[in-house]
Amino acid sequence: MKKLVNDVLNVVPESLEGFARLHPTLAILDGHTTVVRADVAAFRASGKVAILSGGGAGHEPAHAGYVGQGMLTAAVSGDVFASPSTDAVHAALKAVGTPAGVLMIVKNYTGDRINFGLAAEMARAEGIPVETVVVDDDAALGSAEMTAGRRGIAGTVLVHKIAGAAAEAGMPLPEVAEKARQAVSRLSSMGVALTPCVVPAAGSANFEIGPDEIEFGLGIHGEAGVSRQVIASSRVIVGALIEKIVADKGLVSGDRVVLLVNNLGSTPTMELNIVARDTLESLADRGIAIDRAYCGTFLTAIEMAGISLSVLKSDAATLAALDAGTVAPGWLANGSTIAPPARSAARIAIPPTSKKTAEEDGTGSAPPAFLDAIRAACEALIAAEDALTAMDQKVGDGDIGRSLAQGAEQILKSLEGFAKRSPKAVLMAISEIVRRSVGGTSGPLYAAFALGAANALTDDFCASEQLSAAFENGVRSVSALGGAQEGDRTMVDALVPAVRAIRAASSAPAGLLAAAVAARRGAAATAHMAPRRGRSSYLGARVLGHVDPGAEAVAIWLAAVAGQTSAE
Ligand code: ADP
Ligand code: MG
Repeated sequence: MKKLVNDVLNVVPESLEGFARLHPTLAILDGHTTVVRADVAAFRASGKVAILSGGGAGHEPAHAGYVGQGMLTAAVSGDVFASPSTDAVHAALKAVGTPAGVLMIVKNYTGDRINFGLAAEMARAEGIPVETVVVDDDAALGSAEMTAGRRGIAGTVLVHKIAGAAAEAGMPLPEVAEKARQAVSRLSSMGVALTPCVVPAAGSANFEIGPDEIEFGLGIHGEAGVSRQVIASSRVIVGALIEKIVADKGLVSGDRVVLLVNNLGSTPTMELNIVARDTLESLADRGIAIDRAYCGTFLTAIEMAGISLSVLKSDAATLAALDAGTVAPGWLANGSTIAPPARSAARIAIPPTSKKTAEEDGTGSAPPAFLDAIRAACEALIAAEDALTAMDQKVGDGDIGRSLAQGAEQILKSLEGFAKRSPKAVLMAISEIVRRSVGGTSGPLYAAFALGAANALTDDFCASEQLSAAFENGVRSVSALGGAQEGDRTMVDALVPAVRAIRAASSAPAGLLAAAVAARRGAAATAHMAPRRGRSSYLGARVLGHVDPGAEAVAIWLAAVAGQTSAE
């Protein structure tokens, strides 16, 4: 490997440090690989909505390059091609979040969705309104039959710009989010790679490609594309990409669009200009009018040679947002400019949250029945460890039994201390315990479940009806975070029928019993479902006949909770 680095472990922090030092408008969030507006203190006082984005590193100038007035307020970076941790996103939310709220723009990758999603739940619990817009502009694989849906690629930068302009104009959070969502729905991208790239810590190319081959539609981390072909002319390649994009968005003659030609890393500007020329021509040949065209290095896959094209259906408001001023260096490198403000700080500390944390908050008393139910659920999961392990070995990697038992053991250790706290505070504490102690996919999903449930309660909780609402909100958080629907063969297939049963029941205890029965039935039904989420989706039809372990776990702990309640 030939790379200009010092230590492969420090590639991300050193790269961000260099970048921030070059740009007086940027600062590093102390202790994190997060870049924030240097004037974030003044920004916080402005009452404007913050825009937060980020993801794995290796996509420079994304995402730090888009931080600045008029675009992102902060960008959180993970390691190369790896999602940032939940805690890193949470720290960034605290750094930029005010009562005006935060819009998170997240590319559609499972790790990013889960970590940004859980951090958002944590911030909401602390009183910061957070909305999320997921970008899935990659048209390569279409929308059907994908395990985790379409990926987010370079078109994301246009979403940053549009949302940033809306926030800068002083729009409230729901409107800023709506602008971003609208942009995503009108956006389509596709790329082609000529060479692979080298992740510094791996030291060798992340895939092989012949000297005369190109790969259509691959992802920005080198994930497989739709087809591998022999290199053709720029005109032919552009024609194929545009055809797919036009079909994806149903563009017809007379439509107006914005074009973004993106260098995936090491494409010479000379070639990029040829691609831009051919794209302008290809769109014109189809009678599609181009309102704006941007060409440059917007979102890369380290040093991969190749390009992506993004097309966004335009209207007057979209153009005004794209033309609005910004000081974000990654955008300025390829676009218009306004004068940057003077440097105000090189490093920014995370401001303390005014709301109390779960630890200090919520003195009160949890009803004994509530704590008994938690104990019963934990004990049932510990007893079921071996059975769940065996199930996960058949359809996954065999860790769910230990993961859930580990979490249950940790919760039981804290149970005594819970008696003097409100149910809301107890659920928040459980979320934190689970987040820190449970790995795999189950960990963040259960942490979100507990936090979502807590968020539906008030500190002076009294009625058991509120617990039903809490359960329902917890399930909503799991669905939002994991993106799974009923029928995808996950824990959601046990949770959602349980919610329906509770809603239909006449009393709270009857609701719990019905929920346990419904969850058991839902779990059993997963044996006949094709896997569309999580690890099992890689095994396809081979998992048929086996019950999903995550759904089984839900049936087990809900049965224990219901049994506990009816025994009183
Ligand atoms: P991992 O696959 O990371 O090892 P676990 O073993 O902790 O995860 O949990 C596996 C369970 O997680 C699955 O049986 C399924 O029920 C659940 N699961 C996986 N992906 C999702 C998702 N996107 N949404 C909801 N549940 C999911
Ligand atoms: Mg597993």
